[in-house]
Amino acid sequence: MLDRIRIVLIGTSHPGNIGGTARAMHNMGLVDLALVAPRCEPLTSDTISRASGADHIVHGARTVETLEQAVTDCTLVVGASARSRTLPWPMITPRALGSRLPEELSGSKSRIALVFGREDSGLSNAELQRCHAHVHIPTNPDFSSLNLAAAVQVLAYECRLAWLAQQEEGGSAEIEPHQPLASHEELEHYFAHLERTLISIGFHDPALPRQLMARLRRFTLRARPERMELNILRGILTSTEKQVAQPEGRRHDVDGSDTSSS
Ligand code: SAH
Repeated sequence: MLDRIRIVLIGTSHPGNIGGTARAMHNMGLVDLALVAPRCEPLTSDTISRASGADHIVHGARTVETLEQAVTDCTLVVGASARSRTLPWPMITPRALGSRLPEELSGSKSRIALVFGREDSGLSNAELQRCHAHVHIPTNPDFSSLNLAAAVQVLAYECRLAWLAQQEEGGSAEIEPHQPLASHEELEHYFAHLERTLISIGFHDPALPRQLMARLRRFTLRARPERMELNILRGILTSTEKQVAQPEGRRHDVDGSDTSSS
């Protein structure tokens, strides 16, 4: 279970925090680290010294340019955030996140990502809106922001507690594997397709977005669609696009009959 939890650091600017993250991960038995567009040299003497012997985690880390590339195969993406944002998003506590892990990771292909933001500005709204849920570590409201590696430590610890509890219960044998959930990549293709279609039918004006796509994202991500369900939705979009492309007289009625007079 712990192998399939990915820690994603976006735009990190201090190598020491990358080393501290590696140490926190190795202490808790996590191995999978992804660095998105780091704003520093990831491997420096600061990294090695803060990693205290866990620098193999940094050597094994994948460095990519975008959040999408880091989480493309993940079925659950959770963003760690020190503060609340304009459009409220589903929130989960660190403890509840841990207790969901055994079920979330019961499918053999499932993988989850915990995403952490920049030291100075956290995660952007666009990044947060790519997450199924946000996790906030309850802190003093007057001083809510933890050091990046400390935040990783707290969530990695919750992952370990959940894993230990699962070991004590005798593994995940009783958990019913569910139908494969849509991956991040499949969801992003769906959102792009949905946006194109909504523009083509005149429902969505990108010049006047009114948070429409953000709200549709939140709704869809909350539902945790299976791959099959997303395929049905994409099928509906494809049929809609075909109908729009037809001259008006040749469009089909809702019952499927051709309305054109032939
Ligand atoms: N100044 C930034 C916070 C940066 S701390 C801001 O105001 O958003 C760096 C990262 O550590 C954050 O992006 C977040 O991923 C994580 N983090 C820090 N404190 C946290 C908290 N209380 N709960 C959840 N994540 C936290």
